[in-house]
Amino acid sequence: KIGVSIGLAQYPQHGETIARLTDRADTALYASKDQGRGIYTLFEHSLEGERQLEQHVQNKLRDAIANGDIKMHYQPIFNPGSGRVNSVEALARWTDDALGVIAPSTFIKVAESSGHIFELSGHILNTVCEDMKRMPGVRVAVNISAQQFGRADFVQTVADLLKRHKVPVGMLMLEITETSLLKDMDRAKATLEALRGLGVHVALDDFGVGYSSMGYLRQLSLSRLKIDISFVRELTTDDRSIPIISAMVAVGKSLGIQIVAEGVETVEQRKILERIGCDYLQGYLFAEPAPLDDMQTLLKAQGAPSQKPLKRA
Ligand code: C2E
Ligand code: CA
Ligand code: CA
Repeated sequence: KIGVSIGLAQYPQHGETIARLTDRADTALYASKDQGRGIYTLFEHSLEGERQLEQHVQNKLRDAIANGDIKMHYQPIFNPGSGRVNSVEALARWTDDALGVIAPSTFIKVAESSGHIFELSGHILNTVCEDMKRMPGVRVAVNISAQQFGRADFVQTVADLLKRHKVPVGMLMLEITETSLLKDMDRAKATLEALRGLGVHVALDDFGVGYSSMGYLRQLSLSRLKIDISFVRELTTDDRSIPIISAMVAVGKSLGIQIVAEGVETVEQRKILERIGCDYLQGYLFAEPAPLDDMQTLLKAQGAPSQKPLKRA
C-alpha cells in the first residue's frame, strides 16, 4: 500500500531562499509522518524545536544504548484488596549529560523512526530479564513497541531471551497497544498464541483510546487489559468515565481477563476504581517508577508477592 505525507512551507514568511524553504517544508513533512499517513502539515516555528531535539536524540541514541545510559525503572501494580504488590512494570529512563532527562515517549519514537528500535528493545529486554533475578517470584511487564511486535522474528527473539536468562514460566509479561494488533490481525493473533505457548503473558495497554472493538478481544490470548490513564484522570470530573470503566471491567470479567487501572493519583480515584471492581491499580498514589534497588526494598518490606495464577497463558 502506498501512502503520502505532505509538508508545506510558504514564501516568504518561512524563508527567503530555496534551501531554507525546503528545509522547513521537510520539518513539516516529519511532523506529518509522525501523525500517521495521509496528513499534510504547514510549517510552524514550534515544530523546529521538536525536530532539533529529535535529531539530538537520534545522534546520541546509539551511544546511549552502548554505554548503558538507558536504565530501567520499575513501578509496582497493586492488589487494592490486600494492599500488596501483584506485579511490576518496567519503564525506560534516559538521562543525558547535555540534554537532561529524555522522556521515553520521545526516545522510543526516535528509535522507531531511525531504525534503532531493535537494538534498544534488545537492551531493554536483556536488562529486565537480568533484573528479574533480583525480584524472584514477581511478574514483570515490559512495554513492546508496535514495530518490535510486528517483526517476523519477534517470537523467536523472546524464546531465545527466556532460555538465555532462564526466566521462570509465566513471569514475563509484555504490554502492547492496539497499534500492534491492527496492522495485521491474523498475524497478531498467531503471535499472541505463540507467546502464550512460551508461557509469556500479554497485556493490552492504553485500552479504550484506540479502535477498541470488544469483538476482537474474544479472539485474542490476552491476560490483562490496562485502562488508559485518560479515563482515570476524568473519573472525578466527567460523569461518563464511571460507566465506561464499568463496561470495561464487565468485559474483562466475562472473558477472564484481568483489569488494571493506571495513573491512579488520588484516594478518591482509588475508591471509585475499587468499587467498580478493577482487579489491580497502578499510579503515583501507591508508588512512582523507581530504580531496582528501591523496588527490592519495597518488595522485601511486603514479604513474598501475592501471585494469583492467571487464567490465560
Ligand atoms: P505507558 O506504558 O502507558 O506507561 C505509563 C506511563 O504513566 C509511564 O510514563 C509512567 O511513569 C506514568 N505514570 C505512572 N503512574 C502515573 C500516575 O499516577 N500519574 C501520571 N500522570 N503518570 C503516571 P513514562 O515512564 O514516561 O512512559 C511513557 C510511555 O513510554 C509508556 O507509556 C510507554 O508507552 C513508553 N515506554 C516507556 N518505557 C518503555 C520501554 O521500555 N519500551 C517501550 N517500547 N516503550 C516504553
Ligand atoms: Ca505500559
Ligand atoms: Ca498505558
